[in-house]
Amino acid sequence: MATPIQSQTDQRAIGHFVGGQPVPGAEGTRTAAIYNPALGVQTGEVALASADEVNAAVETAAQAQIAWGATPPLRRARVMFRFKALIEANHDRLAECITREHGKTFSDAKGEVVRGLEVVEFACGIPHLIKGEYSPSVGTGVDSYSMQQPVGVCAGITPFNFPVMVPLWMAPVALACGNSFILKPSEKDPSAGMLLAELLQEAGLPDGVFQVVNGDKEAVDALLTHPQVGAISFVGSTPIARYIYETGAHHGKRVQALGGAKNHAVVMPDADMEQTVDALMGAAYGSAGERCMAISAAVPVGEETADRLVAGLKQRLESLTVGDGLADPEPEMGPLVTAEHRDKVAGYLDIGTAEGAELVVDGRQASLPGEGFFIGGSLFDRVRPGMRIHSEEIFGPVLSVVRAADFEAALGIVNAHPFGNGTAIFTRDGDAARSFGDRVQAGMVGVNVPIPVPMAFHSFGGWKESRFGVLHAHGPDAVRFYTQMKTITQRWPKGVREGSAFVMPTM
Ligand code: NAD
Repeated sequence: MATPIQSQTDQRAIGHFVGGQPVPGAEGTRTAAIYNPALGVQTGEVALASADEVNAAVETAAQAQIAWGATPPLRRARVMFRFKALIEANHDRLAECITREHGKTFSDAKGEVVRGLEVVEFACGIPHLIKGEYSPSVGTGVDSYSMQQPVGVCAGITPFNFPVMVPLWMAPVALACGNSFILKPSEKDPSAGMLLAELLQEAGLPDGVFQVVNGDKEAVDALLTHPQVGAISFVGSTPIARYIYETGAHHGKRVQALGGAKNHAVVMPDADMEQTVDALMGAAYGSAGERCMAISAAVPVGEETADRLVAGLKQRLESLTVGDGLADPEPEMGPLVTAEHRDKVAGYLDIGTAEGAELVVDGRQASLPGEGFFIGGSLFDRVRPGMRIHSEEIFGPVLSVVRAADFEAALGIVNAHPFGNGTAIFTRDGDAARSFGDRVQAGMVGVNVPIPVPMAFHSFGGWKESRFGVLHAHGPDAVRFYTQMKTITQRWPKGVREGSAFVMPTM
């Protein structure tokens, strides 16, 4: 990669981005440490907003939204076009921000930026997306039309694992629809959100329309309970997603809350095993397994399929390279986000062994560089439903093989799991693929595609405990989420006064 923009260990104090500019935390503010996980060293600290600071940002957002909401959609779209160009011009800077605080490899971080950029491109089409519906002559001399108006102040609470992409799932569509938006990024990697705020400002977004408040539960609770916040978008773990959904709804807000996952890949006996092993390596161990769409359970059908799959994965894992995501040559996998998370993932290796699963590859034994929060890729075989390593989300580079006797048993394992984010089937059999697509209980399904993330012009969301609320993220659902429908029925009498009517009008 190019020369780093910052030294790897520069110390940074990160505040908030309010009213069109970066501001420090209030005096006496609480802070959280930020780390470079590849080096295992602290690289700064982020201010944690108090409820008063959040309330002030909401006031600013509510004021700013009035003029922004009245700005013609075409002009709002032009800001998005400039934002798109600025993201492209700052592609490496954004990716470097991600790698320095999250740890994923630089090229993976660059891919993340592109997936976020695609939502900005979608939002550039907002005049077309909200042009509404019109029915002339719903009755004699009566016309009816619907328009999608902004909700007002919207807030987004985002996880550590996609510090650019997930904020960009939300903010571009919310802003293009005429809302103001407050982002509360993960306190583990807040720099990328601050950079997005700078770029939106440079793109010509008026002050206060997009703001960043950094913080933890105190800031989130202030957003969830503030009467002027109309909509909350959340992406993160399931227990917090449930809390956000219940608390936000209790306070009268529309809420979309995307939660955790345990994504299964069913491997049929006729699958191309070499391609399947390659696909599962990337899907299970890419980004150190810290993806909500990571494949964390493989379900081979039949003992022979399982034996071939485990042998292939074991062989590939032996040469999996782990290291600093900014290193040259680039490794295949970076560190985990914090030392605590690395230790939690390592703990699951003991839990699984105690539960009776077979630890085929132990990532703790891998050759790992330096002092960073590294762990190698691990593989469990003979995992059974009911074991904690199967029922819980590990969110690390651990793949569990759950053997199934036949297709129906494999489908049953996937459908019985409480999570239903993504899933995939590997097969050459169209009948099996079609049946799987029809009957599987998950929101996003891949056929020989391990990570079936929908494109920006479709919507992204899971089923069951992987999502709370009705609408999915980005795409057409996001336009519905960030607007409220108003339907006007109008009648222009021809000058003939008909007098009052006392019975229900029928058309
Ligand atoms: P997390 O739930 O710990 O945190 C997410 C956000 O919630 C952060 O901004 C955090 O500050 C805030 N938060 C944490 N605890 C809170 C509390 N008690 N009260 C209020 N707010 C709180 O999630 P994470 O560890 O940052 O991210 C990883 C999780 O996100 C995984 O479970 C992963 O599957 C999930 N995820 C899901 C999707 C999806 O689309 N379904 C996408 C990405 C990540």
